[in-house]
Amino acid sequence: MASDITRDIMFPKPVFVEKIWGGRKLETEFGYTIPDGPVGECWSISAHPNGDCPIEGGAWDGRYLSDLWANEPQLFAGAKGDRFPLLIKILDAHDYLSVQVHPDDAYAGAHENGSLGKSECWYILEADPDARIMIGQKAHDRDEFAAMVAEHRWSELLNEIPIHAGDFFAINPGTVHAVKGALILETQQSSDVTYRVYDFDRRQPDGSERELHMAQCLDVIDFSAPLLTDGAVTAPEVDGITKLMSCSYFDVFRVRVSPDKPVVIPQDKPFMCVSMVSGKGGTVVAGDGPTHELEKGSHFLAPAGCGDLAFAGDMELIASYAN
Ligand code: ZN
Repeated sequence: MASDITRDIMFPKPVFVEKIWGGRKLETEFGYTIPDGPVGECWSISAHPNGDCPIEGGAWDGRYLSDLWANEPQLFAGAKGDRFPLLIKILDAHDYLSVQVHPDDAYAGAHENGSLGKSECWYILEADPDARIMIGQKAHDRDEFAAMVAEHRWSELLNEIPIHAGDFFAINPGTVHAVKGALILETQQSSDVTYRVYDFDRRQPDGSERELHMAQCLDVIDFSAPLLTDGAVTAPEVDGITKLMSCSYFDVFRVRVSPDKPVVIPQDKPFMCVSMVSGKGGTVVAGDGPTHELEKGSHFLAPAGCGDLAFAGDMELIASYAN
């Protein structure tokens, strides 16, 4: 079969977002050209209106991912849904993210103009020696949570644990979380709804504080969620592939490629998102298409019908697809 260039993999151009807690590692560690100031987020594969990525190069050069989703459904095997469902980010948590929680689809749909909820997960790329994640909380109900917040009993309230490169955390809607001192590959639903419990009394450059959303937090927090004690990945690696999580929205897996172990992944999904997160680099070929070079910080979207993805080189990748 002759290669169909319109079905080849696509490279979205990332969108960078300044954040009060961000740093400069998206430039120094990943080599991206980023705006001045503290930059916290690289929206690497996104069709969300707050950061829609244009495709760079290839048959779809200059077209936005939201446009392709709406107008070229063959690229996604006619996948259902009124918007591209996933959002892939790199976070540079130089300082603490706000202590936050996200709603599920039902709550976000009803209270946030039809937004999706936000299930997300974090793969830790780099962690400072003292890096911590806050994930989960210890109050039993709304009243106890509200009282502990009012009394600033943060260390009693929040489940805080050390993190290390290679850890992985699923963060379901309703789970209170924050992190500091880490670079993170985030896979999430395409949503930008965050409710803040606490922002460390920080002020923005104009002197104002970021808004808190206590009423919404109390509505959406899952008071019965079990508390995690670590983020170590225990799933087995099979032929270079480790399944990190599977939920009703997405599956996420890690791919390790070494010079003596190339990896081939069948691409039989409506689409697949792939990010190269570490290593010296390598190549990917989709089906009988052209060879593409990959380097740390490369992200691509493999459309329906692109063929198997054949990787060679020395690199670690995080891949996902929607369910
Ligand atoms: Zn979050």
